[in-house]
Amino acid sequence: MPKEREQNIWKPRYECMDPEELRQLQLERLQATLNRVFKNVSFYRRKFKEIGFVPEEDLTDIDDIKRLPFTSSEDVSNCYPYEMFAVPLREVVRIHSSSGTMTNPRVVGYTKQDLKTWSELVARILTAAGVTAEDVIQVTFGYGLLTGGLGIHYGAELLGASVLPTSTGRTERQIKIMKDFRTTVLVSTPSYALVIADRMEQIGIDAKTLSLKYVVCAGEPWTEEMRREIEERLFVVATDNYGVSEVIGPGVAGECLEQDGMHVQEDHFFAEVVDPLSGKPVDAGKVGELVLTTLTKEAFPVIRYRTGDLCRLIETKCSCGRTFRRISRILGRCDQVVVIKGINIVPERIGDILKKIGGETPPYQLVATRKGHEDQLEIHVAITESLFYDKMREQRTLVDVMRQKVANFIGITPKIKLVELRSLKRDEKGNIIPFIDERQK
Ligand code: ZN
Repeated sequence: MPKEREQNIWKPRYECMDPEELRQLQLERLQATLNRVFKNVSFYRRKFKEIGFVPEEDLTDIDDIKRLPFTSSEDVSNCYPYEMFAVPLREVVRIHSSSGTMTNPRVVGYTKQDLKTWSELVARILTAAGVTAEDVIQVTFGYGLLTGGLGIHYGAELLGASVLPTSTGRTERQIKIMKDFRTTVLVSTPSYALVIADRMEQIGIDAKTLSLKYVVCAGEPWTEEMRREIEERLFVVATDNYGVSEVIGPGVAGECLEQDGMHVQEDHFFAEVVDPLSGKPVDAGKVGELVLTTLTKEAFPVIRYRTGDLCRLIETKCSCGRTFRRISRILGRCDQVVVIKGINIVPERIGDILKKIGGETPPYQLVATRKGHEDQLEIHVAITESLFYDKMREQRTLVDVMRQKVANFIGITPKIKLVELRSLKRDEKGNIIPFIDERQK
């Protein structure tokens, strides 16, 4: 290969850093970020002044960040459109925005340097997911004001892959392109990957005849079962990745081929997991809300941004060699969370466990009760045809298995009650209410 061309190729690097070295880098970058927002963003200046925080004097350790107030999505909305930008508009070369229906959309901006960083981060994430310069990558995210499409696009180009910007929808056309253009990597939401698999079956296209190797998933919470289904039906390896528009877009964290949590790009983002109610850090490995601070963003830095996404931080070493910590898959949104005995529980995830046991999710309802001062979680499971057992003993075994599996997953032992379907409480639309709190009675 000619030398000049070789130099132009982006080199995938393993993100390996000594923990102390990383902390020092994070501290320096946070210092610069806090100085910038204190100087240029009236929202942050006001917030810092309220608590008497002067970045130059009061930030001596990365943990000092915990003294700072959170930034919420409403804050970003209230700063519509450009109040949270930390550079003059003439330095902003790209603007994205959330769709926003009820409130003002959340508008974010990028400098030239921000776009370079963004591409680098996405290229890293794609590399971790197995993508190389040899691949043909089909991007089915929207190419519009949302960050998904263009974010992935430039990262894939930097990596040197051949990018097919097919954008969203028109599934049959997507499949034809995938087949004719010999797509090797599909970028999509997990549910859209399954829509594609369904349509391929309907129109009689055998997934084995495609060149597809990887599906890079993002954009919505999904489960391990969905991953297996995508992998088995499309004959691929499917990985998870995570992005937030207010933070940068895609490129915040991504899974490597070990498929065991998403590496956070900690040289560019500082990640915390906090209790969604108290805002205090959760114990190591416990579920909480992901809070992110940008360390290198120029146009739109965010400090302790509450993502509203629930996950766990994984601190153990990953066999891939990358040293950055990982986050678990997103387990749900904070507004779905139920707190019992100090444990954050997402009712939907209980359904996943029940599905694993019975093969399908039975109708169920979580009920929190209180005896004296002690809270108790009851799970009311409707007896359906597939869960119906004549003999009392078998029913008892089933209940035992359910109790055990749920206890293993959430860390508290629930009481499982098998009930008639009609006894589950419903809302006015007739849907089963996922959680009923009887503790206040
Ligand atoms: Zn890894």
